[in-house]
Amino acid sequence: MTTVGILGGGQLARMMALSGAPLGLRFMVLDTVADACAGQFAPMVVGDYTGQAALTEFASRIDVATFDFENVPAESAQWLTARVPVFPNPRALATAQDRLAEKTLFREQGIPVPPFAAIDTREQLQAAVADIGMPCILKTRRLGYDGKGQFRIKSAGDVDAAWDALGAQAAKVGLILEGFVAFQRELSVVAVRGRDGEFRAWPLTENWHVDGVLSASLAPAQVDDALRDTALAHARRLAEALDYVGVFALELFCRDGELLANEMAPRVHNSGHWTIEGSETSQFENHLRAVTGLPLGSTAMRGHACMLNWLGAMPDAATALAVEGVHWHDYGKAPRVGRKVGHATLRADSPVVLADALRQVGEALGRQAQVAPVIATLLD
Ligand code: AMP
Repeated sequence: MTTVGILGGGQLARMMALSGAPLGLRFMVLDTVADACAGQFAPMVVGDYTGQAALTEFASRIDVATFDFENVPAESAQWLTARVPVFPNPRALATAQDRLAEKTLFREQGIPVPPFAAIDTREQLQAAVADIGMPCILKTRRLGYDGKGQFRIKSAGDVDAAWDALGAQAAKVGLILEGFVAFQRELSVVAVRGRDGEFRAWPLTENWHVDGVLSASLAPAQVDDALRDTALAHARRLAEALDYVGVFALELFCRDGELLANEMAPRVHNSGHWTIEGSETSQFENHLRAVTGLPLGSTAMRGHACMLNWLGAMPDAATALAVEGVHWHDYGKAPRVGRKVGHATLRADSPVVLADALRQVGEALGRQAQVAPVIATLLD
């Protein structure tokens, strides 16, 4: 009986535990809070990610360790590797934790990126803004997610405001300035690499964000084969460069037919939730197969799928489930403004049927604005 240890007990760990049950896997979750939602399905150790006591107990009860979030301190991941196999490896984790290291690796691997520069001082920021041009975005190198820790610089007057907002972070988590990409679409590759190096990717996904947070994902993205192949090749090179094991996501901007890499998530990803119902093998199952050394499953799609994120509070399940093709995921979390509390995946055999189901759900739940860009893309 294999026990998989997961650092972090949020919805990703919860969905991993749910998908691992049929494989006969056991789980153990380490989280800082006792009410972490994965704890509803897996035993938990509550403690600090750097605390020796918690880590020692966690390590003593598991056969392999993985993560449900990337900001696990690198020392903790390193400490664990001396005791159990850890996937993805700490170097991959450390690279993906730091936007500067990540973008540098992308560039080394021939994956195009927006112009970027490391920023330590106000003077460097001024020089980099002049160099990169406006608009641009100042971001924290570490610990930023879902658009947090970012400041958009649209005109010269914003430079001081950006420094006032984020300058204090320069010494703590570092800063990076990036050119703003006037993209037409945001895409992601969700892919998996096994312990033996086998690589598989799900069909490309198109994503829509609102205020920096994922709102909807559509798969397969309606792009031509050449663009898809380029995106998948980027993901493969990245996985091989990092000797990556497990699922990861590569987020890409598409501007005038060109792909630019934004960031990599070293874990199962929100833009891959549709794989639970929309694919032969979900990202959660394939991640577990990868980290436990099992053969990977097919990443083929079943028709067309759209995932809608629920933020703040869950909509009414019965209303949504009255629409054919809707699948419901309630993470069992207390409502809170902006919090990811659940999602729905709509699956259909054709784009037209999926668009109609989205229209029905949008109307029934009063979420017309959320579904509108997906419907427009499907019917394009
Ligand atoms: P991130 O936290 O880097 O994933 O950023 C969150 C969202 O902000 C992205 O999904 C984009 O919608 C937007 N964004 C981030 N960086 C850029 C950029 N360089 N150019 C344009 N939009 C961006």
